[in-house]
Amino acid sequence: MTVSAAAPRVRPGLDLAAIRADFPILARRVHGKRLVFLDSAASAQKPRAVIDAEREVYETEYANVHRGVYWLSERATASYEAAREKVRRLLNAREGREIVFVRGATEAINLVAQTFGRAFLAPGDEVLITEVEHHANIVPWQMLRDEKGIVLKVAPVDDEGDLDLDAFRSLIGPRTRLISVAHVANALGTVLPVEAIVGLARERGIPVLLDGCQAVQHQPIDVQALDCDFYVFSGHKLYGPSGVGALYGKAEWLEKMPPWQGGGDMIRSVTFDKTEYNELPWKFEAGTPNIAGVIALGAAVDYVQSVGYDAIASHETELLGYAVRELSKINSLRFIGRPRRRSGVISLALEGVHPHDIATILDREAICVRAGHHCAQPTMTRFGVPATVRASFGLYNGHDDVDALVAGLRKVQEVFGL
Ligand code: PLP
Repeated sequence: MTVSAAAPRVRPGLDLAAIRADFPILARRVHGKRLVFLDSAASAQKPRAVIDAEREVYETEYANVHRGVYWLSERATASYEAAREKVRRLLNAREGREIVFVRGATEAINLVAQTFGRAFLAPGDEVLITEVEHHANIVPWQMLRDEKGIVLKVAPVDDEGDLDLDAFRSLIGPRTRLISVAHVANALGTVLPVEAIVGLARERGIPVLLDGCQAVQHQPIDVQALDCDFYVFSGHKLYGPSGVGALYGKAEWLEKMPPWQGGGDMIRSVTFDKTEYNELPWKFEAGTPNIAGVIALGAAVDYVQSVGYDAIASHETELLGYAVRELSKINSLRFIGRPRRRSGVISLALEGVHPHDIATILDREAICVRAGHHCAQPTMTRFGVPATVRASFGLYNGHDDVDALVAGLRKVQEVFGL
């Protein structure tokens, strides 16, 4: 196949009109109006390169991978493994065998909880997380707590939504066996001080898992520079397909961890007496994977890199600053969290109006925002709200989207007589 259809185009800076033209759905009108998509933190829209890559797999080179000796299967396998190399380069992992394809970040964290957790955690051992984690980085550890009697420790954030690093430090103890934290918090947009966190962990020999679900689409990731032990992300937030994501793990950990799911592809040999497991990374990839999804994820990586993280980051930073300034002008609007370093996300409330009502009225203006707890109920509890309205930004958003949001919120105020 010509996944080369998704080959990078070099663009200096970020040409918003050209970017938008890459995303077919953005041309769609909703309720007769221009679509204003501000829910990329939940799932981002897909560029044509990704859509084409997935379609082309099925049209030109679809077969199961790692199994067939025939040409088509070898082609599919080559493209599948080429996508692994793209993800390796994206994260700057040392080796391709450190990249495991999974369904998404949720599956990646569960994999670590179930394999690392089962093998290396004993009753009374502690896993340290923060107060602003997604449920995907809370519940797997609670399940392990119920199964194995581990202890879950939770580091607090301050009223702005920034991590209290002193409190975090004080929660690290002799029984801390794993630190598992978001790189960027999904409900508030807080960029956590992951370098400092890894530094504290390194001094004490504690492995660190970083949940990069809300980071990898906004900033370059270098797992070697970060020196984390695990890094996870979901493809669908990186402009790739849903149902596919990646777990990076240092080879020395992945080698020692037992497999999670058993089945095809993860074995070297099977008898009824004994099974020998496959080598990395396939030891963790039991069963037929999301072949076309993985290859299209490779196309998403190509796409993001063709735009360039410098261009993406400077565009989005400027846009977030503009959004915060413009939203601040709305009376009765309250930001939920005002983190020092923010990425991609703004959570807000209008006094006296339920977030779901806000989102419903905005929808009539073709503005898509998320209202709810954002799979981060403990964050809501911390800020004393049942839910927030969350506007989240991708590389295709512009000032016009922010202006539409502000106008939409003023309409909400009118409706509610605020
Ligand atoms: N972690 C964070 C920080 C997230 O934002 C999300 C999704 O919103 C997840 C984990 C779970 O991702 P997925 O549902 O793609 O597995």
